[in-house]
Order: sequence, then structure tokens, then C-alpha cells
Amino acid sequence: MELYQSQQLKIYNSLSGKKEIFQSINEGHIGMYVCGPTVYSNVHLGNCRTFMSFDMIFRYFKHLGYKVRYVRNITDAGHLVDDAEDGEDKIAKKARLEQLEPMEVVQRYTVDFHNILQKFNFLPPSIEPTATGHIIEQIEIIKDILEKEYAYEKNGSVYFDVVKFNKTHEYGKLSGRKLEDMIANTRVLAAQDEKKSPQDFALWKKAEPEHIMRWPSPWGDGFPGWHLECTAMSTKYLGETFDIHGGGMDLKFPHHECEIAQAEASNGHSPVKYWLHANMLTMNGKKMAKSTGNNILPGEIFTGENDILSKAFSPSVVRFFMMQAHYTSILDLSNDALLASEKGHHRLMDAFAKIETLEVSDKTSDFNIKSWQQECYNAMNDDFNTPILIAKMFDAVKHINLIKEGNESITAEDKSTLQTTLNGFIFDVLGLEGKTDIGADSDKLAGVVALLIQLRKDARDNKDFATSDKIRDQLAAMGIQLKDGKEGTTFSVS
Ligand code: AMP
Ligand code: ZN
Repeated sequence: MELYQSQQLKIYNSLSGKKEIFQSINEGHIGMYVCGPTVYSNVHLGNCRTFMSFDMIFRYFKHLGYKVRYVRNITDAGHLVDDAEDGEDKIAKKARLEQLEPMEVVQRYTVDFHNILQKFNFLPPSIEPTATGHIIEQIEIIKDILEKEYAYEKNGSVYFDVVKFNKTHEYGKLSGRKLEDMIANTRVLAAQDEKKSPQDFALWKKAEPEHIMRWPSPWGDGFPGWHLECTAMSTKYLGETFDIHGGGMDLKFPHHECEIAQAEASNGHSPVKYWLHANMLTMNGKKMAKSTGNNILPGEIFTGENDILSKAFSPSVVRFFMMQAHYTSILDLSNDALLASEKGHHRLMDAFAKIETLEVSDKTSDFNIKSWQQECYNAMNDDFNTPILIAKMFDAVKHINLIKEGNESITAEDKSTLQTTLNGFIFDVLGLEGKTDIGADSDKLAGVVALLIQLRKDARDNKDFATSDKIRDQLAAMGIQLKDGKEGTTFSVS
């Protein structure tokens, strides 16, 4: 029996505005699509938070025994400056400013994205498709929508007819907006505007001569609209209806609303069973964003090179900081919050490492491991409530410390359950790492510490305890803890 069969998972569905019992479309399988980055600049920590929320969700599904096909795309064309309907492509603009080929820009920032995610210990998605790799599929969907008369062509561009769609469908159902209100609140179309209504959105845009990212189509040379790529790639890899679609809260409207409209217009049914939206990371109370300059790069946190930071923080500490908030809550980044997370991270890892050394006894304890374990699952089953899970894990930390001090006892069976459960939640589900990532130098550092461990052992064997203690204490002062265990001495970095 797989674990998911014994757990009842509830998920907040943005489409219904309620927590719903999760039931996958195909027993034991989950199809999940998450809107990926537009690769025209370095990912900031805010972007990372959204992707990390879905990495945690992916990890929990896998932990429960589901077979997950997780598709997270790379937007490498079609996303215009200011998320606008007209104007320059974000990638083409960067290419123009830096005198690069657009695909050089794409390559540079895709590599950066992957490097950062790897530092944060993300699991790779099952498929990572690109918009430019799916132009043909996008053109096919446009043809289909045109045939069904929910779109119209104008001067080499194709627009989705929102007003017509809304007569038989509900445009705005995800974001809770009404088309009439939207129309009342927008400017009147200028005479030269190609759209019939300001709410209409582009499926295909004619490329002006200066627009270098262009492809041939039945409507002439052009490029696909931003919303269309996600419909094309999710349908191709997950089918016309799939389990989960995720993204940042800021993508709910218009991006996801348009995705629903496109899929309903072409397939005739709603594409997604559960819509999940991750909340924003803020700094100084304001949304972290590339455009406003209110952002911090992960690399600046790993090196401490930013004025708001008093020191460097490891990727796992930053991950722990993120996991201390529920994914649907706003989270504010500050040096103090990171310092507090570092302490918590250290206490948790320390307690976890201690389990191995706990002496077992037959005495029963007040701390019921089995019900504690279920409470951990209950937290995650309640819409992936990682802050409650972490609070539960700290109940176990307290218990471990009491046993270590001789004030509590644990049976061999409970010790094993405790260790397996914490191992599963800390490493598999939350994706934390016991050892701080020290980047490219980690192998060298490991070699140096191994050498010091050997010298310490030699000193001890020669009963030179002054030297062996000096090695241990001075390493500890540098944040490198040595731990003596049955299998020899290991180390961890904080
Ligand atoms: P973009 O590359 O601009 O398309 O954004 C990539 C992802 O990052 C989207 O899912 C956004 O919702 C998300 N995002 C952007 N800013 C933030 C933020 N401050 N906090 C959390 N997620 C964000
Ligand atoms: Zn998308």
C-alpha cells in the first residue's frame, strides 16, 4: 500500500476558493504544471520562493508514493516588457542592450536559474519544455480557436475574443473578476487599436521588421502570445485535463485566466482540477521584484554581500526560512528573520544527528511517537502546512534533548520511527541539507576537515588531548562541528 492511500490530503483550490479533498484524476498518478521563469535576468529570491513552494509540493506528493509528472516550462519568447500586449519582448530587449543573440540571453539565464535551484537542492522537474520549442503546437491551438470562432485575425495578428467567449463561458472565474467591471474600468480603445475589446488578448502577434524573434505562420511572420505557451505545453505533456496547475499569485490574472479561456475555447472543458497559487516574498514590506529594484539575489545571500545582511547564510538555512511560512502567506525577508532561521535550522539538524546516539530502554514514555508522526502528516495534509510541520518537529527536538539528558526514555522501535520520520520530513519533503553548501570549494573543505579529523585522532591515540581538543574547539569556533560516532568522526557546517 502506498502512503497516500492512508492519508487524506486537502488542498486550497484557487478556482473554488475552498480547501478540497485531493483526488488525482488517475489513481496513483499526478500531472502538475508550474509556470517557469522568463529567462532574461538572474532569478531573484522572490522567484525562488514560488518555485520552492512547488518543489516542496512535488516532494510531498512523491513522498506519499504518487508517480508525478512535473512540467515546469522555460519562457524564452513571447513575454513582452511590462507583461504588455504590445511592445518589445523581454528577452529581445536584453539582447539588444547587451548586443547578444536572444538565444545567448536565454542560455545565460537558464544556466543561472539551474545553478541557483541546484544550490537550493531542488528536484529537477520531469520535463522542462521551452516556448520556442513549441511554436508549431501553439500555431495548431490558434487554428483550432479560430475555427471555433473564439478568435479573430487582424493585420497579421490573432486575438482571443473575450466578449464572445464570455457569452457561453465565464471569463474571470479564477480571479473572481467580472468582464463588465473590467470593461467599465479600462480605457476606450484607440481608433488604430486592432482589438475589438480592451480585454481581448493576443494569441499571435505580427512581428514588426525590428522584432527579431519571429516565426512563420499562416498569418505571416510573428510570435506567439505569452499565455498560449503554457496551454500548448501543459496540454501536450499532461493532457487536456490535468491535476494541478501552479504559479505565483501575481500570475492568476490575466495569465492563468487566459490559459483557462484558451483551453476551454479549444478543448471545450476546463483544463485543471486544482489551481494552486503561491504567495509573494517581500522585502521591507514590498513585493520583491526585478522592475522596482527591491530584490536580492540568492548569490548575495550565500556570500553575505548585501547591505541588509550581517553575514552569509547557507542555501539550506534560506530554504528553512521559506518553509517556516505557509506557501499561501506573504513572507518578509530580513536579516533578523534569517538569523532566527539559522538558529532553528541548527537546533533541528543537531537534534537529528543526536538520535543515532540515543540509548534505548524498555520504559514507556509520555511522548507518543506514533501519534506525533500522524500529527506531522496531518500538518502536511492540511494544504501543505510546513510551519505547523516544523513546530511538530520541534516537539520531537525537545523530546530528543530530554532523552539525551537522561530525563526521558525511548524504545528501540520508537527510536527507529523517530529517525525515519524526521529523515523523511527534513530531507525528502522539506529538502533541507544537513551540511551547509559551500559551493565549488566543498570538496576541498571536506578534504581539509578529513585531514584535521585524522590529526585529531592521532593526537588522541598519543594521549595528546590538548591538541585534539584544540582542533575540535577551533573548528567549532569556525562553525564546523565534529561528531564522534560508531562509524568514526563526521562533521557538519553551520
Ligand atoms: P517571471 O520570471 O517574472 O515570469 O516570474 C517567475 C515566477 O516568479 C512567477 O511564478 C512569479 O509569480 C514569481 N514571482 C515573482 N516575484 C515574486 C515574489 N516577490 N515572490 C514570490 N514569487 C515571485
Ligand atoms: Zn504560464
